[in-house]
Amino acid sequence: MQQWRDVKSRHPDALVFFRVGDFYEFFNQDAEEGARLLGLTLTSRNNGAAGDVPLAGVPAKALDDYLARLVRLGRRVAICEQVEDPALAKGIVRREVVEMVTPGTVLHDALLEPGKNVWVMALVPDGETRVGTAALDLSTGQLELRLVAADHLASELARTQPAELVSTEAFASALPRSTDGAGPTPLLTLRPDWIFHPEGAKEELLRSFAVHSLEGLGFHEGDTALIRAAGALLHYVRETQPSGVGHLSPPRIHRSGSVMVLDEMTVRNLELVEPLRAGTGGATLLQVLGRTGTPMGARLLRWWVLHPRIDADEIWARQDAVADLFDDPVLRGRLRDALDHVGDLERIAGRLGTERATPRELLSLCRSLAHIEPLPGVLTPARSERSSELRTRLDPMTDVRAVLEGALADDPPAVLADGGVIREGYDAELDDLRRTRDGAVDFIASLQERERQRTGIGSLKVGYNRVFGYYLEVTHAHRGKVPDDYVRKQTLSNAERYFTPELKQWEEKVSTAEDRIRELEAQLFSDLRTALAAEVARLQRTSRAVAELDVLAALSEVARERGYVRPEVHTGFELELVAGRHPVVETMMAREDFIPNDVRLEPGARLIILTGPNMAGKSTVLRQVGLIQLLAQIGSFVPADRARVPVVDRIFTRVGASDNLVRGQSTFMVEMTETSAILHGATERSLVLLDEIGRGTSTYDGVSIAWAVSEHLHERVGAKTVFATHYHELTQLADLLPAARNMNVVVREVGEDIVFLRRLEAGGADRSYGIQVARLAGLPLEVVARAREILAELEGAHSAGGEGLGRHGTHRPASQAPPDQLALELGEHPVLADLRDVEVDRLTPLEALNLLHALAARARSRG
Ligand code: ADP
Ligand code: MG
Repeated sequence: MQQWRDVKSRHPDALVFFRVGDFYEFFNQDAEEGARLLGLTLTSRNNGAAGDVPLAGVPAKALDDYLARLVRLGRRVAICEQVEDPALAKGIVRREVVEMVTPGTVLHDALLEPGKNVWVMALVPDGETRVGTAALDLSTGQLELRLVAADHLASELARTQPAELVSTEAFASALPRSTDGAGPTPLLTLRPDWIFHPEGAKEELLRSFAVHSLEGLGFHEGDTALIRAAGALLHYVRETQPSGVGHLSPPRIHRSGSVMVLDEMTVRNLELVEPLRAGTGGATLLQVLGRTGTPMGARLLRWWVLHPRIDADEIWARQDAVADLFDDPVLRGRLRDALDHVGDLERIAGRLGTERATPRELLSLCRSLAHIEPLPGVLTPARSERSSELRTRLDPMTDVRAVLEGALADDPPAVLADGGVIREGYDAELDDLRRTRDGAVDFIASLQERERQRTGIGSLKVGYNRVFGYYLEVTHAHRGKVPDDYVRKQTLSNAERYFTPELKQWEEKVSTAEDRIRELEAQLFSDLRTALAAEVARLQRTSRAVAELDVLAALSEVARERGYVRPEVHTGFELELVAGRHPVVETMMAREDFIPNDVRLEPGARLIILTGPNMAGKSTVLRQVGLIQLLAQIGSFVPADRARVPVVDRIFTRVGASDNLVRGQSTFMVEMTETSAILHGATERSLVLLDEIGRGTSTYDGVSIAWAVSEHLHERVGAKTVFATHYHELTQLADLLPAARNMNVVVREVGEDIVFLRRLEAGGADRSYGIQVARLAGLPLEVVARAREILAELEGAHSAGGEGLGRHGTHRPASQAPPDQLALELGEHPVLADLRDVEVDRLTPLEALNLLHALAARARSRG
């Protein structure tokens, strides 16, 4: 208990897994928490004077399962192992925390998803307006540094989705609330100020990467916040992995100007990596593009989708490489076939760096390298600069592979202790020992025949079990014939088991040889692993190149399969899509069922008011524009017949509150907050997509807000904007704003019904067709009929009044509209209109009284 208390006092915020024999035990508050979180039975242990101590435990074998559950719950765990052999220890076995497992620093297989990075991120403010961020995936060793504007921090967190944030108490309290409870909340790890100190952080970096100056790592003057974040993060990781990490790649510093800022709502509304309605099996852009063959390729693809580029050079370089593979099906096929056989090199590198690699992982490494070897040759016909650069970065590591092939058995066991990991011929002593053991085993096997002859017991058997070792088994029927030198070992219901001095002697030979074999194999394997750990950096470089080739191949494969074209990406303003399609929606129907559409946004026509009834396809067109824009900026081809796509600095996508059920809190307030962020954040180089903004309030409110937002975007911001709305009133904007255009998704009326044509045309929708949609949706016929009646009345009032929102507030003589229809429209009583016309000064008292009488009567009879 003293030991436990020591450990616990050093890790007060962690659940301590305290190794006792074959179990991990929890004590005191940990036992209670463990019991609650893991459903364990809570017992107690008598602890002498201290009284009863609550106790719970889990079998050591099941460690990974329990860790996985705790980490998913956002808990921090300290694994405290026995670090001495209990057989040799004097007194109490020494124990030490060998590892901390936290949501952001997991290395256990059971906790890792192949296609997803696990990030732990440190944050350090840089003045008032910026924050230095350092994100590390411990399982792969990637370290990504980025300075972000404080305003964009929430977006950055939403995009990276770190599992854990490391910061100081002061910084943390100043952090923005990263998400409004929508995404998973990262575990917040608070550390003292000093680990963020610039000097200490610098030392930490220099030491970790064995360099003499930070310039060598690509840092510039003024990168202090990045250095502090990175240094503190490395410090923290050393805390969680006391035995060290040998596989961290040098930091990659992302400077602003290369990556598009993508806010959380845009990522979600465009369904880039997760469907809006989780669990409905909805498809995402990532799924459509997800044709990678390797886990690191899958992770990189995800990264690309969430980090579109804004530097045209990089986009063009990627496009050229995609084109190489797009144009040459043989090249693409051979590349993809090879990649299908390449395992998770990046995580294997991580396992080597933390001395965890298992025999099977080394085998997977060896096989992967074999499939990488021909790749440079395969890539020879590729002409683009990027392809040849990647080709030269591929190092098949033939030397390493030769070592592995020589050392590893063909089919090594999952765990080292099962033996048979090292190939015959690799080590002479091991071969000798194995021969000795096999000889002894053979001899024991041959004993059966000789003992049968000697004793005359035909059914005598030689057997083996784990507890009792080798034995000679004789059924009770033959008990009388058992010779004197047989010694009884175990009694079964129908037989007796014996050993003889001779058997015992051979058994000892076997077990001595086996002990020695196990030791020697462990030694050889560990030497092998150490030798390989020195090659981790090479392995990571190759892995990166493989991942990038994999993504490029996936993009070209999708492009071929789905008939994408290479967009002409340029640095001007116009966006022009000819026969554009929605990359995700089109995969959910037969090819010919999806109707392509043209969209053009240019300086003189940069705001599209997109109208059409519900279900017409407005949201689909809108998102299609956003997705094609994004695809173009990750370097992908796009679903269209022809596309000219400018590089935009941001894509904003907002969906009106009532359309946005997933938020749980579909409040108008949220909608307006988001809209306001666009109005502040968008520039003329942005693409703004607004879907039914203003819907979350009453019609007039909504139309007015939508109107004002469009006006602002048009006049002040100048961004390319598509505004989808079922308020056909907004079509009047196009008459008033020079660069606004109406477009609508056409429907055709067939008798009482409408047919959705899904076709985009110039001009505004003339009406909302809400009733027809309601009819299609199966509203009872009498309700539909009554709605028609009311509509006819309202429309009569409207056209007679000739009122338009654009001229709202101008005077209109009451007499032009039938009074009670006008009343319905305006929501006021018709007598009020008459009252307005009364010239009180000219009434005689009698006239006044008569008028009052008449008005009162009309008021009582409603008009
Ligand atoms: P709106 O936003 O106008 O209410 P949506 O964009 O949500 O309409 O489209 C409704 C449905 O119509 C979509 O779920 C999709 O199945 C179908 N759809 C939309 N656009 C197309 C298209 N271009 N071709 C074929 N089907 C489409
Ligand atoms: Mg819609």
